[in-house]
Amino acid sequence: MCAVAPCGAGKTIMTAWMARGTALSGRRAIFMVHRQELIEQTSSTFTAMGIRHGLIAAGAAKEYDLPVQIASVQTLIHRLPQVEPPDLLICDECHHIVANTYRKIIDQFASSYVLGVTATPERIGGQGLGEIFESLVLGPTAADLIAAGNLTPYDYYAPPSKFDPAAAHVRFGEYVKNDLIHQMDDADVIGDIVKNYQNLAGDRRAICYCINRAHSEHVAASFRAAGIPAAHVDGETHRAVRARTIEEFRAGKLRILCNAELFGEGFDVPAMEAVILARPTASLTLYIQQSMRPLRPDPNNPAKRAVIIDHVGNVFRHGMPDEEREWSLETKKRKPRAMAIKICPACYTAVSSTARVCPCGHIFAAAPEERTFTEKDGTLMKIEEIKRKKRQEVGSARSVADLTEIAIKRGYSLRWVSRMADLKRLRG
Ligand SMILES: [Zn+2]
Repeated sequence: MCAVAPCGAGKTIMTAWMARGTALSGRRAIFMVHRQELIEQTSSTFTAMGIRHGLIAAGAAKEYDLPVQIASVQTLIHRLPQVEPPDLLICDECHHIVANTYRKIIDQFASSYVLGVTATPERIGGQGLGEIFESLVLGPTAADLIAAGNLTPYDYYAPPSKFDPAAAHVRFGEYVKNDLIHQMDDADVIGDIVKNYQNLAGDRRAICYCINRAHSEHVAASFRAAGIPAAHVDGETHRAVRARTIEEFRAGKLRILCNAELFGEGFDVPAMEAVILARPTASLTLYIQQSMRPLRPDPNNPAKRAVIIDHVGNVFRHGMPDEEREWSLETKKRKPRAMAIKICPACYTAVSSTARVCPCGHIFAAAPEERTFTEKDGTLMKIEEIKRKKRQEVGSARSVADLTEIAIKRGYSLRWVSRMADLKRLRG
């Protein structure tokens, strides 16, 4: 069974509760995580819930007689013969399960019930999980959880992006990193990231998702140069240093944490109020995992409103983070589609393409199609081109009648005609 619930729905708590129930009824449960770094965090959650447990992880003492175990997949796979098969096997962030690894575990644990949990039941490359799970259980949607106050509302900003997807190759469902670095690891592009953070995020504590370590370090340095305390952390950062850095972030001494993928999934960074997307992704899974991170409510700040700043046009490829999606276990051939989204020119907020007014008060004067993006042959064609053509058409209008013709074709109002006629000093 694969259970789906958004980031922040409390999947660890729910499944920890199931593990506890299993143990109370005299049976055994294993909670499996895909990364060593998640062991510690999961273990403290279990401890906080009063669930005594053992660890199946490199460097941890073996207490295999305890009915609840938290296991890292890598360690478990090597110790399979030593571990008694559980009655319930819980796979956290189960979109990461590699088919071969999973086979080995399941061959050994043939009689176990298997429960996978994830916010995004599809692999980073877009493949379905049908070879692993038999059925999908859909929990509440992100929009449900926002409405219920379990996740915070957010503002999504997409300032003009310098990323051109047509100039980046896609391999196994994701952009080739070198192509991304080539476009994004650039002083001007990084300068925009800092400037837009200052304009749009207030002084919110933000995680910035970067492409690789070098890019992440460049971004952190630019923030510091602008007087905003920032640091880079990654999986190789020494544990003590990483813990201290995250603590400084929580305390507000650091405003920005830059990283490449470390905080993408599962890894909790308390007090996150904003995310900056500086790494273009073709993966819906990665997009949702990254953009939904700052939506955890803050008990100390009931009015919290998260901010997402998208510098890479992810919203045009994948839609809004809490958009309702049709998940299935099959691999879907997703047709690239133009997302029905437009950007407010006054404040960069992403809104539905049918919106007439932005939350900032800006009234969209132009026809909606002027600010949506269209997709052609799987690559995004920037609206700038369409806009330019339209402007040229308006520019070459020689009379009010010409303007009226354009207005009728595009569905503009007569007010637009008189305004343009005034601008162009046309009469009659
Ligand atoms: Zn606006």
